[in-house]
Amino acid sequence: MSRPFEHVLQPLDLGFVTLPNRVIMGSMHTGLEEFPPERQAAFFARRAAGGVGLIITGGISPSELGVLGPGMCTMTTEADAKKHKVITDAVHAAGGRICMQVLHAGRQSYHPMNISPSGKKSPIFPFPPQTMTTEVIEQELNNWVNAAALAQQAGYDGIEIMGSEGYLLNQFLTTRGNERDDAWGGDFERRMRFPLEIVRRTRERVGPNFIIVYRMSMLDLVPDGQTFDEVITLAKELEKAGVNIINTGIGWHEAKIPTIATMVPRGAFTWVTRKVKEAVNIPVAASNRINMPSHAEEILARGDADMISMARPMLADPDWVNKAAADKEDEVNTCIGCNQACLDHTFALRQASCLVNPQACYEDQLFYVKTDKPKNIAVIGAGPAGMSFATVAAERGHNVTLFDQDTQIGGQFNIAKQVPGKEEFYETIRYFGAMIVKHGVTLQLGKRVGAADLAEFDEVVLATGIAPRQLPLEGVNHPKVMSYIDVLKEKKPVGKRVAVIGAGGIGMDTSEFLTHDSHHAPASLDIDEFLREWGIDKTLQARSGIEGVKAQVSPSPREVYLLQRKNKKITGPGKTTGWAHREVLLKKGVHMITGVEYLKIDDEGLHIAINGEPKVLAVDNIIICAGQEPQRELQAGVEALGIKVHLIGGADVAAELDAKRAIGQGARLAAEV
Ligand code: FAD
Ligand code: NAP
Ligand code: SF4
Repeated sequence: MSRPFEHVLQPLDLGFVTLPNRVIMGSMHTGLEEFPPERQAAFFARRAAGGVGLIITGGISPSELGVLGPGMCTMTTEADAKKHKVITDAVHAAGGRICMQVLHAGRQSYHPMNISPSGKKSPIFPFPPQTMTTEVIEQELNNWVNAAALAQQAGYDGIEIMGSEGYLLNQFLTTRGNERDDAWGGDFERRMRFPLEIVRRTRERVGPNFIIVYRMSMLDLVPDGQTFDEVITLAKELEKAGVNIINTGIGWHEAKIPTIATMVPRGAFTWVTRKVKEAVNIPVAASNRINMPSHAEEILARGDADMISMARPMLADPDWVNKAAADKEDEVNTCIGCNQACLDHTFALRQASCLVNPQACYEDQLFYVKTDKPKNIAVIGAGPAGMSFATVAAERGHNVTLFDQDTQIGGQFNIAKQVPGKEEFYETIRYFGAMIVKHGVTLQLGKRVGAADLAEFDEVVLATGIAPRQLPLEGVNHPKVMSYIDVLKEKKPVGKRVAVIGAGGIGMDTSEFLTHDSHHAPASLDIDEFLREWGIDKTLQARSGIEGVKAQVSPSPREVYLLQRKNKKITGPGKTTGWAHREVLLKKGVHMITGVEYLKIDDEGLHIAINGEPKVLAVDNIIICAGQEPQRELQAGVEALGIKVHLIGGADVAAELDAKRAIGQGARLAAEV
């Protein structure tokens, strides 16, 4: 009988070291880099103990000029190497292997001293770069090699050279960043000299028994990037220069195409990795939106890649590999690609964590310790907050009963998962379902709980969520008016012309839902549809994968007006994903109107005023997505019984509620109760 996930779990012999399986924990800046090394040690050791084959750290700069932002981490001195020894020792003690990523930001940085091969400013970073003189080029090459040698001294098993996402090496490789005409720029041979010199000189310095991974940008997805012929030429030269593993990078940060958000289909770019793999004789790792063992297995079995690199899924579940090895895929806590607690935090210079795993990056602070005083606890509401509390409290040894009036667990996530591009939210419900069984939570569904049902419990946790906000608007009870629950959950029929009141996350999601029909699979579920929608050339003839390619979007079956009172641009709630949600809606022809005053609703439609100018939107339906109010009527009745009540999630505070807060609050309370 074949082993489960046999390709994923197959060891990989690099000649001088054998990795136990094909899983790389990809590099990700978490913000822990700026703390004493013990915190990173705890974070990475937890992943090593979870069985990952090779860990790659967040990006560390080889010089002060290459940092991502002021005061960010470098590897330039023996003192730095000594600090990192704490990390490598912890990982090795847990049975893992770890490479340090060397990242030189070039012009993609938040500090004014940044440098680039030419003085061209990045469109999304604030400071124009200084042009690198030949002396500075030599200096930065030496710094890079020095960082690699110091990493070796610190006990790392290797380095990853960050050659993707638009950082310094991409700037050298493309005319987008490199307008030189000297030994370091001009034709492609000279443009690729800088990265190749780094590899050659590093290999010479560190010797043969040190892993060199090169993360290469296989599709730049920006104008004036590389052709795919250039990508293949570079891959072959990297192999000759001494690279052991090529890892996949897709898209610069400057690209206007989403590459890792939930709306990107799983494994959307492994077809590109496959082309590189076919051109070289060293292992090549696939990445981007690979999050489950069976999917990783499929990619490897199909021959698209030799390894799988996952960054965010390792935040979501440090035991991903061990669970695959134990054939317990249903227990994997799946990364849903939301970016809400990881990249959104990193780009706001906050410490990262994970929406579905509040322990991520808090391994040294948030512990789920077995209790020696088990209590009988009732949890009302099996939404994200209630499921999180119930499963952690039961894991700690409490007797937990979880009630919901619905016949299924999941709360609003059952609504969210209906939105095209949010299908992944199903995985979180599936995960909590498995944890409910594993930790012995007693589940009572289909029961609307009253205070009298709770008299026998020691403590009660109210996780009863929210109720949609009602608007005091004339005509709000007109038959044209619907709530987002009518549309997304009840699937009531909606007309051809629709106005959506409220352009928060739910208003945008409802608009997204309304712009799809049953004739076209959502782009999030169909790779070819996704590539068409964003204008990516699958034949790889177009420079950068995009030049000269026209995006083709399946037409919306409805005309949608998305309305907001505030007079500011409508973007989704996520710092790193909101722009893409907006872009999708614009491509679908959604009219976004801001500065709106709502006047009344009648047979004619929705009466509004824009800057005092009255206007009627002659729509068939008006859908209200105007925020939410907490729902906690039970509180007083339960307290009257003399039982301690805790409020979590929407039942606590509805304003600015999201699943990150709901799950985090549930877990933190459960860790203490
Ligand atoms: P809820 O999920 O509302 O769960 C409350 C539960 O309590 C329900 O199951 C309800 O049936 C039950 N209940 C209530 N009263 C009783 C009673 N008396 N007896 C028994 N059961 C009761 N958040 C994000 O972070 N990211 C997103 O991308 C995102 N997208 C969303 C998209 C949509 C379309 C929607 C609707 C929401 C989205 N959210 C998103 C918000 C997120 O789902 C909520 O923040 C989260 O569900 C709140 O969790 P909760 O447990 O507090 O409440
Ligand atoms: P929300 O983000 O608070 O948005 C509510 C919208 O309604 C706002 O656009 C607001 O803008 C409008 N509004 C508020 N009061 C109104 C009133 N009295 N009359 C008319 N309009 C009013 O809430 P939500 O969209 O319901 O989302 C609920 C929570 O789920 C949010 O915290 C959200 O972050 C989270 N969520 C997140 C995502 C995600 O992708 N990360 C997706 C969905 C939901 P104006 O007042 O300017 O009109
Ligand atoms: Fe994945 Fe969201 Fe967690 Fe980030 S916050 S690791 S995207 S689930």
